[in-house]
Amino acid sequence: MIQASSNSIATYPLLYNFAGGVGLLPPKVISEAQQAILEVPGTGISALVINHRSQLCRDILDETEKNIRTLLNVPDNYRILFLQGGASLQFSMIPMNLWVSKNQPVDYIVSGYWSTKALKEAEIEGKNVNIIWNGKAQKFVRVPSQHEYKIDPDAAYVHYCSNETVEGLQFAEPLETRNVPLVCDMSSDFLAKPVDISKYGLVYAHAQKNIGAAGVTVVIIRDDLLECIPDNIPTVLDYRPHVEMKSIYNTPPVFAIYVVLLVTRWLLNDIGGLANMAEQSQRKAAMLYKVIDQSEGFYRGHAQVDSRSLINVVFNLATPDLETPFIAAAKQLGIIGLEGHRSLGGIRASLYDSMPIDGAQYLQNFMLEFQEQFKNY
Ligand code: PMP
Repeated sequence: MIQASSNSIATYPLLYNFAGGVGLLPPKVISEAQQAILEVPGTGISALVINHRSQLCRDILDETEKNIRTLLNVPDNYRILFLQGGASLQFSMIPMNLWVSKNQPVDYIVSGYWSTKALKEAEIEGKNVNIIWNGKAQKFVRVPSQHEYKIDPDAAYVHYCSNETVEGLQFAEPLETRNVPLVCDMSSDFLAKPVDISKYGLVYAHAQKNIGAAGVTVVIIRDDLLECIPDNIPTVLDYRPHVEMKSIYNTPPVFAIYVVLLVTRWLLNDIGGLANMAEQSQRKAAMLYKVIDQSEGFYRGHAQVDSRSLINVVFNLATPDLETPFIAAAKQLGIIGLEGHRSLGGIRASLYDSMPIDGAQYLQNFMLEFQEQFKNY
């Protein structure tokens, strides 16, 4: 029987949850959210019943926006929106809004499960979709380097996913697109490291991995892209009313946004900004990749080394027969959510912002102990 490591689970009040779909939240944020359900401090109102036309709602949205601007140093010529429909709705809203003339091409990099989903929705909107790089034939084990794709200078935009959550692949840097607007699905690495927003035309990320609970999606869009949006799209799917009404075109998910506010405060005040968060991410990922690399094939990383994600560590065990016992033994020690995505199987350990370094350490110890016990299996 594998013993609990010295890093006791008691240092963290909940289970160590490494699930990929929905991340952890800092214990401090959970207790502040719990308190806000009774009363947003000093307001006499529960966060669950804030009227969207009230000053309190405006204040919550404004502070959340201000914090994201500060964390990412967002330039003044970008708007920040809080929308519903998840990252999946952006797969459609982006081509609807930014693909003005359908004679123009749009360029897509297909590097994994989620960029494939985005591509499919673009193909519904128009025919002229160029796949400028596709990693499918290689089973999505890496992201391309710059010389492997060519962006059409006439493209309305180029879309990519900075961190493929399922396969555990991450682009280290934004694509170089010259003047073609760069659009990025940052759902799984948003606010995990500093990013130069000025390189992008549009960035989107749902909240439920790094920055909050499900229900709200952040969109950061450059002003000039708002000027070309066609007039024939349904109002709620058009970015402009959301910009004009500062995310209160219709009733926003105020509680979900309030949780994002709490997380951004935590990132600013407790973590000390995104450079510190990035450093923590590096440390957490390094712990797990070290075990994989030194395991002599007992653990097998999915991604090629230079494409490895610092956020989703995806691997197999030497034989698939060991994966079910691995997951079961982990559960006994309070480590949950290690099952790989249903499309890929294997193991995935997700290290979102709120996973403490202790959590990665605890999993590292477990992996070493499991290997020791089963190395001759
Ligand atoms: N993009 C990425 C990178 C994702 O990881 C996910 C979901 N895990 C999505 C998009 C879809 O997000 P949603 O469920 O919010 O639509």
